Amino acid sequence: EPAPVPAQVPAQGLASRLDELRGEYAALQARGLRLDLTRGKPSAEQLDLSEALLALPGEGVHTSENGTDTRNYGGLAGLPELRGIFAELLGVPTEQLLAQGNASLTLMYDTVVQALLFGVPGSERPWSREEQITFVCPVPGYDRHFAVCEELGIRMVTVPMTSDGPDAEAVAELVATDPSIKGMWVVPTYGNPDGSVVSEAVARRLVSMPTAAPDFRIFWDNAYAVHHLTAHEAKSADAIALAEEAGHPDRVLMYASTSKITFAGSGVAFFASSPANVAWFTKHLGIRSIGPDKINHLRHAMFFGDAEGVRAHMRRHREILAPKFAAVTGILADRLGDLGVATWTEPAGGYFVSVDVTAGTASRVVQLAKEAGIALTPAGATFPYGRDPQDRNIRLAPTMPPLDEVRVAMDGVATCILLAAAEAAAG
Ligand code: PMP
Repeated sequence: EPAPVPAQVPAQGLASRLDELRGEYAALQARGLRLDLTRGKPSAEQLDLSEALLALPGEGVHTSENGTDTRNYGGLAGLPELRGIFAELLGVPTEQLLAQGNASLTLMYDTVVQALLFGVPGSERPWSREEQITFVCPVPGYDRHFAVCEELGIRMVTVPMTSDGPDAEAVAELVATDPSIKGMWVVPTYGNPDGSVVSEAVARRLVSMPTAAPDFRIFWDNAYAVHHLTAHEAKSADAIALAEEAGHPDRVLMYASTSKITFAGSGVAFFASSPANVAWFTKHLGIRSIGPDKINHLRHAMFFGDAEGVRAHMRRHREILAPKFAAVTGILADRLGDLGVATWTEPAGGYFVSVDVTAGTASRVVQLAKEAGIALTPAGATFPYGRDPQDRNIRLAPTMPPLDEVRVAMDGVATCILLAAAEAAAG
């Protein structure tokens, strides 16, 4: 299972290897590397898979299946044929799925801002008129989710991740009694950064648990729904349908995008939820926009053809990405093995490997790596306010650099993890 478990106290033997490891690190520094494992961006090779998009829809092609001229204003919900393709992939009714601009993060931000300004269906008043708003943040998690909360003045409380997603019992306990808890972040499929997949049981618990706030919402960020790294293609729990079944039809807000399917900067983002939430979101959307970029929607619909077209496209991504992830976990296993200095996830999808190093050494590892020319995501980034209370977690993003660079960088990272552990053991 890919669950991170606490790193053990490093074996005493490591302290005696301090000189040897310092020598190894000096040799690493002497190589003058310039490598980057910081952000989950697709590589140029992956972007090339979608190069044909740049010639679509093509001059003279601008009419959608229902006769809409995509060049003009309107069509607030997005192009029906593209919504149909992603409704199938995300397991939601097409009428309950909106296709919008290039970033799902924008849709999440808009949702929170609109909830603060107007409240959501079921709210007694706008969230901003409450004395305090709190979101449950499973950790380790996605730094940009936490940044949205931080900027908008939303308090964050953490719960641990498990191999089946957020610790649902811990969440249920918090939301049962605290009416300030209005929201929760979840990355259900191949979580960022731990790669966990929310099980059906956890999904059922989260959508059915009693909440003190009548307008509690789960921000179900399905950013990696179709981003498999193995032949076993995990299917996301049907959270929206399960919530309806559980008598809380409006609890789940789902987000997704093609940022890691086609072009990270020019993809299409999606929002799905209950009819009431979709109507609420659309009402405010209609004030801020006359309609989305339907030409981009048409180009994507033509490029994929159907849902199977998306799945086939994702298998080509997998061919590029799987060896990089194998390199990361393989090198960690070879270099660190069972020395007790780190544990790490072996994700079956998504964009990250989550490493837990010896407690108290994550920032030292990142600093050592930086001084050897290997950029890592700052330690603490996977926690609210950038503060990892145990200074233990490091998020590795191996998708962007070429495979040979991933190998070199990871060998260097392993050296830094060992040296930091040896320093700690030596006191
Ligand atoms: N959610 C998660 C969990 C992500 O990892 C990312 C990208 N790093 C995003 C959302 C951003 O998606 P988008 O490009 O659609 O804004």
